[in-house]
Amino acid sequence: MKLQPTASHFIDGAYVEDKAGAPIQVIYPATGEIMATVHAATPDLIEKAIVAGKRAQKEWAKLTGTERGRVLRRAADIIRDRNHELSVLETYDTGKPLQETLVADATSGADALEYFGGLAGSLTGEHIPMGEDWVYTVREPLGLCVGIGAWNYPTQIACWKAAPALACGNAMIFKPSETTPLCALKVAEILIEAGAPAGLFNVLQGMGEVGGALVTDPRVDKVSLTGSVPTGKKVYAAAAADMKHVTMELGGKSPLIIFDDADIESAVSGAINANFYSSGQVCSNGTRVFVQKGIKEAFLARLAERLKGAVMGDPQDEKVNFGPMVSERQMDIVLGYIEKGKAEGARIVSGGNQVECAGFFIEPTVFADVQDDMIIAQEEIFGPVMAVLDFEEEADVIARANDTEFGLAAGVFTRDLSRGHRVVGALEAGSCFINSYNDAPVEAPFGGVKASGVGRENSKEAIQHYSQVKSVYVRMGDCEAAF
Ligand code: NAD
Repeated sequence: MKLQPTASHFIDGAYVEDKAGAPIQVIYPATGEIMATVHAATPDLIEKAIVAGKRAQKEWAKLTGTERGRVLRRAADIIRDRNHELSVLETYDTGKPLQETLVADATSGADALEYFGGLAGSLTGEHIPMGEDWVYTVREPLGLCVGIGAWNYPTQIACWKAAPALACGNAMIFKPSETTPLCALKVAEILIEAGAPAGLFNVLQGMGEVGGALVTDPRVDKVSLTGSVPTGKKVYAAAAADMKHVTMELGGKSPLIIFDDADIESAVSGAINANFYSSGQVCSNGTRVFVQKGIKEAFLARLAERLKGAVMGDPQDEKVNFGPMVSERQMDIVLGYIEKGKAEGARIVSGGNQVECAGFFIEPTVFADVQDDMIIAQEEIFGPVMAVLDFEEEADVIARANDTEFGLAAGVFTRDLSRGHRVVGALEAGSCFINSYNDAPVEAPFGGVKASGVGRENSKEAIQHYSQVKSVYVRMGDCEAAF
């Protein structure tokens, strides 16, 4: 199977190649095979994309919101019609099981395009009476936005950034992760087919240098990054030099707190969703699982039993529900953390090994008896490794859950709903769950507090981050002055 795209980049409405850029191999994580090669964008192509984006944005912003929204909603329909083909590509790009990608990637991208397409016509300002005078406000686009993606959700990330940006009248240059460069090209193709003007949504491949060149260009007005905290700090600082707007969707080490009155079966499902979906490569994962002492052993026993249901194999086979790590590098990082957990004295309840095969598979791994100061309880692992910690008191677990630089997500399982609300009220996290984990509907804001990010994606909140307000004071009488 070869997946070579027509060309590496999509600029000003068309595929563009320049082999002078450094080659980037696209590897199928399930087999280690090279499926395609793309090239990093050269300075010349970066320039072309910026010029095209600036030009397209001016014309696009002149359309009515309803006209812009129609294009986005058409793109959503095309994505849904092509869901199977796009999901197969997503699975080759990331290694995530087709069983997942069929329902979580292109479909989630389509939801964002449909939702923001629907909102585009209602982006209005306010009328503020000032006696006989008045002020009106106008919600205006920011201009040219840059989107930079991580590798775990290449279609979804491209659409979650493009949809609100375009709905508000901006243009976008999207740089996918160098690990998963293929899916965003399809989003660009589909937007053109849906009627978007050439240059409105451009895709440039490359490593951090290409991202850096875009972030520091003075013609760029906004940067939205999905990535790790160290990258976020660099990109935020670079964007600040020109006072650019930013959205930062970064990493986490989120707590999932299971009280002893929780339904154990449901809590085990929550913990599995919070740690093993996409083989653990999800930013909002609840990887510090605090279990109240009364149900600890019952919880661990049932969890180990349920993990026997993980089916590994070729992720293109719909029976497979657990895929490989995205890359050999990521596999090595995660295996390194598993070794650290063993060395620190945490107890392996399940898994703990690389799977003998050509792909980058690691068994779903659970450590129990984890202590707060262990590395596996403090650092984001971004793989299928759950750390189970014990607790006795509510106040104590809240303090421990919050004792981290991160604040992306948090979850609570309890049958006592007053406690559920009280505890999430005290947790320092942007997205919280009660008796559930990792739901991310487009209607709800998504994003982190503390080092996990700035701004929100999805929902009406995202509009604030892709537009700005102009206020206009209108004096009805004569203008007076002191002299
Ligand atoms: P990463 O930080 O290594 O890279 C992210 C992107 O930034 C890539 O496209 C990379 O090329 C680019 N980049 C790197 N250095 C840059 C620079 N100096 N200037 C501009 N761009 C630069 O992250 P990753 O390994 O691809 O993804 C995993 C991380 O992403 C994890 O920490 C995970 O938690 C996070 N993540 C967050 C969310 C969220 O919504 N909060 C979603 C998915 C992933």
